[in-house]
Amino acid sequence: MDIQTIDDSVTRRIRAFVDRVDYLKTNDLYYYNMPVSEVRGGARVVVDGREMGMYASYSYLGLLGHPRINAAAKAAVDKYGTGTHGVRLLAGTLTIHTELEETIAEFKHAEAALSYSSGYATNLSVISTLMGRGDYVLSDKLNHASIVDGCLMSGAEFRRFKHNDMADLEHRLQQVPEGRAKLVIADSVFSMDGDVIDLPAVVALCKKYNAWLMMDEAHSLGVLGKTGRGIEEHFDLWDSVDIKMGTLSKTIPSVGGYVAGKKDLITYLRHASRAYIFSAALPPAQAAAANEAFKVILDEPWRIRKLQQNADLFIGGLKKAGFDTMLTTTAIVPVLCGADDRAFALTRACQHHDLFILPVVSPAVPEGLARLRATVLAAHEPDEIKYAISVIEQAGKEIGIIQ
Ligand SMILES: *Cc1c(COP(=O)(O)O)cnc(C)c1O
Repeated sequence: MDIQTIDDSVTRRIRAFVDRVDYLKTNDLYYYNMPVSEVRGGARVVVDGREMGMYASYSYLGLLGHPRINAAAKAAVDKYGTGTHGVRLLAGTLTIHTELEETIAEFKHAEAALSYSSGYATNLSVISTLMGRGDYVLSDKLNHASIVDGCLMSGAEFRRFKHNDMADLEHRLQQVPEGRAKLVIADSVFSMDGDVIDLPAVVALCKKYNAWLMMDEAHSLGVLGKTGRGIEEHFDLWDSVDIKMGTLSKTIPSVGGYVAGKKDLITYLRHASRAYIFSAALPPAQAAAANEAFKVILDEPWRIRKLQQNADLFIGGLKKAGFDTMLTTTAIVPVLCGADDRAFALTRACQHHDLFILPVVSPAVPEGLARLRATVLAAHEPDEIKYAISVIEQAGKEIGIIQ
């Protein structure tokens, strides 16, 4: 069957997207899917033989390529091979999985933890296993797509509250009929804006209205808190989050996702969540890498301090140049551009000056709020960050984003 001959909404949707990609490519505005041939110390990468400063990485603590973590992964391959015998519940559980889950539980001050093969699958499966028809999920408007998809898949009543707006969250909680189960869920650090959820207020509301609380720590693990333990350490509010979710693919230089919490919750998910039961276990090398990475974070706390210093330097410099970096205080730094084409133009200028930075445009963010979405890493040196600021400032003036 030739898709060109069917003229329906699917064909038109595909066509519209392909046209947009073609337009960007023709005009030297397309910088997605860039082939990185080498990773040099995390902060620098090689693309088409050219070394670039990396400002689109989630390896916040610069652990990608860490010798201890690489060695752990290699040893796991020698010990277990490259795959597993199947799904975790049946023949797929290796001792390295159990070790990893114990490490995560300890790191997150939780009773137990469970790993999945991706963060995306974790959100999908955990939310849809816990919640169902007749229940209510209350989700921050800027939550990650995997949370939204998990909420939709659950079949529960799905309510979105205004971004980090506690009055709106309370209003939504009041609207839930008596006796219904409620789950409040939010990113800890928001993936597009870099701001931090008001955890103390959320916790107080969850207590007041008997709601479960789930936090996604994709961008806060290793980033927030003195020892990198995340949102609860940041606010010194231990044991305040019922369902502690995170990914093993960002600060932790592996792949996979986890959920940590009370023993009973984890036992339930271990026997009822479909991504755990019907999808293969994490490969041993990735489980071992993740396990070692949590230990490296605790052994090398300077990385967390350096990351925050670098973030302050980058955000401060951009603000001084006149850019709007929204409410970020973390390693995710939005550089507001306005219309989509301005974000693409600023990206092109950065790329021409060897900065690997990517834009986020509509529909990923609202129209008129297109931006560069830069990330800072512990692996950056202050001089590299100052260079990046000067390039962005110069180009921002030429494009007319700043004066
Ligand atoms: C990246 C991300 C995920 C998904 O994690 P993966 O391990 O990449 O699948 C989930 N939530 C948030 C907020 C993220 O940024």
